[in-house]
Amino acid sequence: YKLPPSYNEPNLHYRTASPEREKLVTALSKLREQLPISVPTVKNGKEIASKDEQHTLMPSEIATQFAKYSPATKQDVEAAIAAALEAKQSWAETSFHDRAAIFLRAADLVSNKYRYELMAATMLGQGKNAWQAEIDAAAELADFYRFNVGFAEEIYTRQPTLHAQGQAGKTDWRPLEGFVYAVSPFNFTAIGGNLISGPALMGNVVLWKPSPGNIYSSYLVHKILLEAGLPPGVIQLVNGDAEMITDVVYEHREFAALNFTGSSDVFRELYARAGEGVRTKKYRDYPRMVAETSGKNFHIVHNTADIPNAVKHTIRASFEYAGQKCSACSRIYIPESRAEEFWKEMKDSLSPVKVGAPEDFSSFTGPVINDKAFKKITTAIDSANKDSQLEKIVGGTYDGSKGLFIEPTIYSAKTLDHPLFDQELFGPVLVAYVYPDAEYDALLEKIDTQGGGLALTGAIFASDQKVIRKTEDRLRYAAGNFYTNCKTTGAVIGQQSFGGARGSGTNDKAGSAGMLMRFVAPRTLKEEY
Ligand code: GLU
Repeated sequence: YKLPPSYNEPNLHYRTASPEREKLVTALSKLREQLPISVPTVKNGKEIASKDEQHTLMPSEIATQFAKYSPATKQDVEAAIAAALEAKQSWAETSFHDRAAIFLRAADLVSNKYRYELMAATMLGQGKNAWQAEIDAAAELADFYRFNVGFAEEIYTRQPTLHAQGQAGKTDWRPLEGFVYAVSPFNFTAIGGNLISGPALMGNVVLWKPSPGNIYSSYLVHKILLEAGLPPGVIQLVNGDAEMITDVVYEHREFAALNFTGSSDVFRELYARAGEGVRTKKYRDYPRMVAETSGKNFHIVHNTADIPNAVKHTIRASFEYAGQKCSACSRIYIPESRAEEFWKEMKDSLSPVKVGAPEDFSSFTGPVINDKAFKKITTAIDSANKDSQLEKIVGGTYDGSKGLFIEPTIYSAKTLDHPLFDQELFGPVLVAYVYPDAEYDALLEKIDTQGGGLALTGAIFASDQKVIRKTEDRLRYAAGNFYTNCKTTGAVIGQQSFGGARGSGTNDKAGSAGMLMRFVAPRTLKEEY
């Protein structure tokens, strides 16, 4: 059989008085009535009412509890892994087309039946506005399911063998032996969906630990997959203490792969621990380490740039979703000859930009995810406000009394050696450097070494093609995703595969066949006649 071609989920716009807006508002008020929402524990596909021992807060309204849940015990995690391993054989024997059908059905359920529920969960739970929730929990989630099916088909139909007389050969694209451990972040509902569905599509079983920050939307993602026909054992969702869950996984002989999106610091730890287990022969295989981690991403403005375009894209890259994207732009380099024009355009464009609750459809951006993030970012803002090496251009203020709101903030650094060029804050804070136009080449050298060893995304704004090519070449390893005349955020599945090099991850590219290849163990077969 040939599967249908993949396509991007069309974006809806939720304009005032549109039927989409009405449906979304209804979903939001329905969810609000249920707050704090009790997130059931799912054991082998069966829902068990939560005892609600733990809770999360609503980032835009910290007096309101958002979700309640029961953390898994060590025994629960062990049982979840055992149940996944039990489901393994029959899942591996399920044909690719039958597995694919489940994910294609799930994409349709996301698009039709659950769109508004997923969006409401993402808006209230993670603080995204309607547009950010749309491109994440509706579009990207469905896109991951549909495109991964296409990428998998590409892999399964590859037969990289040279046929010689008297022999037959083929490649058997086996799933990994053992189980995959997926650890997903709060900032994208879709990323969790990708981290679990990619390996599962390739015939693997998965233990999934989502972030507490999107516990409810992750529950919905899982529920939809079960409704689409995923056998209950295949993906086991566990919530609770990350360290304990990781301890159980890392003690298990069948630990076959880590599929991680989160911070570089955590990944380094997880990588090193896996290495230690390898050294002591704890695991059958060398566990695959797949990760997309932190970024300290840059925009370069050249003196041939279209300034209004550069400003528009910078505002979106740095401040949409309060800068809480691995791909967000947090350092920018501006040519002296255009700096005045750039800052004027920036201030004019930012002044109507509204920071507010996600349910207010006029909010451009919302709160940061939790108290810990708020403290980290505002502490950095406090010290930046006092730093004589930094000139505040806009923002520098925050108000955490009702929700965790931080104003879009920009500093211009007097020196290119300021530590802010290396520090990932994961918030709406941008540091700029105004460079002498004539020193563009030296600037490129410097940009390549800044960013705290991270290399996720970068962008050049210029109209001179020679400059664009030179910049691309010189910064060949400074970003896994490099953009020209457009922002560092918003990779679209099927259009731009996504992932960083250096400290930003293993660069296996979400939204590509390469990512899925990490979850197969190819076997080469030869038969002589
Ligand atoms: N893929 C997203 C983008 O291109 C970012 C994902 C992330 O934050 O991890 O904006």
